[in-house]
Amino acid sequence: MSGSSGQIKGWCPGALRPMRSGDGLIVRVRLTGGDLIPDRAAALAEAARRFGNGLVDLTSRANLQMRGVSDETLQPLLDRLAELSLLDASAAAEQVRNVIASPLAGLDPSAPIDIQPLIRALELRLIGNERFHFLPAKFGFLLDGGGVLPLDGVEADIALRAEVDGHFRLEAGGETLGWVRAEEALEAALGVAERFLALRQPDESRMRDVVGRLLNEAQQPSPPSGEGGPTKSGRMGCGPLATSFPVGVLLADHTPSPVASQRHLPHLVKKAAAPSRLAGPHPAGFFTAAAPFGRLDAGQLEGLAAIAARHGATLRLTPWRSILLAPLAVDVTTQVSSLGLVVDPGDPRLAIAACPGSPSCLSGEAPAQADAARLAPVLAGFVERGASVHVSGCAKGCARRAPASITLVGQGGRYGIAFDADSKAPSETEPMSLGELMAFLTKRLTENSFKSSDHV
Ligand code: SF4
Repeated sequence: MSGSSGQIKGWCPGALRPMRSGDGLIVRVRLTGGDLIPDRAAALAEAARRFGNGLVDLTSRANLQMRGVSDETLQPLLDRLAELSLLDASAAAEQVRNVIASPLAGLDPSAPIDIQPLIRALELRLIGNERFHFLPAKFGFLLDGGGVLPLDGVEADIALRAEVDGHFRLEAGGETLGWVRAEEALEAALGVAERFLALRQPDESRMRDVVGRLLNEAQQPSPPSGEGGPTKSGRMGCGPLATSFPVGVLLADHTPSPVASQRHLPHLVKKAAAPSRLAGPHPAGFFTAAAPFGRLDAGQLEGLAAIAARHGATLRLTPWRSILLAPLAVDVTTQVSSLGLVVDPGDPRLAIAACPGSPSCLSGEAPAQADAARLAPVLAGFVERGASVHVSGCAKGCARRAPASITLVGQGGRYGIAFDADSKAPSETEPMSLGELMAFLTKRLTENSFKSSDHV
């Protein structure tokens, strides 16, 4: 273990740098492309039971984390991960492998670009160049091959999103920089990462911070003479990004880069709607097993591994905290349902984000996940009207950064409530007990006084 006692909070946990929580150490296993062959999944389930408390969380970066690991069981767990070829050589190498990829990479013939070979190639470039080890802990990349399960709405500091004709759209902090040919995509993305390291200020840990600042600077009035401001066309002709990025970076007006004109054409592929609500069989030949609030136990993971092995499928973790079984020609609804996992896209729990809360999390002021499960029947009425719901153990809001239609935040064992707000918004009522909350929500629903918002 590389020098961490697991005491650091606000850190992205890894295996070599675990995070201490209310129920012990959290050990995150970073899976390349979220890929987990059945044998490894079964081995990880066994390890979660043997070295942790048997609970496994799926993260929004398609990784898996074991909970309840003790100081005594940590080293044996690391040894087991090494045997499974799931342990990095150093904590720095582990941390920099922060890549979200399309969960059907290599398995979706409708994808405009097969990103499968790029995933490991990007990881190796990040590990191999020590300059990138200075990227902040949460700084991440995204590789989106498009096709049936595009990663629309999944954010990353630097993203490559496949469009058509062998081109990726290159994004930084959510802003389109230009279009690059597939064979130049990694160089372009890594070049943007280098520019981030060169341009970031001490308080800027994410690409959106740097891009936002540069956009602001570009909108300031041009100096009477000299360089540095937008050109007549509105482009950042002389700004630091424009001259230094490997593609023509045109943050000011998003005009196409010199490398390629805009490649976006209407999608010919029928995309899966709202992937976060995906559950059950899909006609494209895969099955989604959704874990309520992203948590499953070792037995459920073992069960999924057995089903996948029986049908010659692999497991893929998704950024929507679910697990795909693919490719799969048969319907395994009954088998997966019997494990207690969600197989119905209409299950209200798919529209509820909930962090572990207390006692799993030391900062938790309420047992968010357990209470979200209790509230699910009453919240179902809101979900049916298109609402999104966030139940948070404290104001930090780990489970959802964006506003939700209904946000419940733990406060000293009770809950504040806010509508169309994020977890940091002030409560619109006095904090309520769970019983009071149920009554309040039921009343709002029966009075028909709730209007669904856009925050679904
Ligand atoms: S939001 Fe939840 S998981 Fe995050 S610190 Fe608060 S209680 Fe813990």
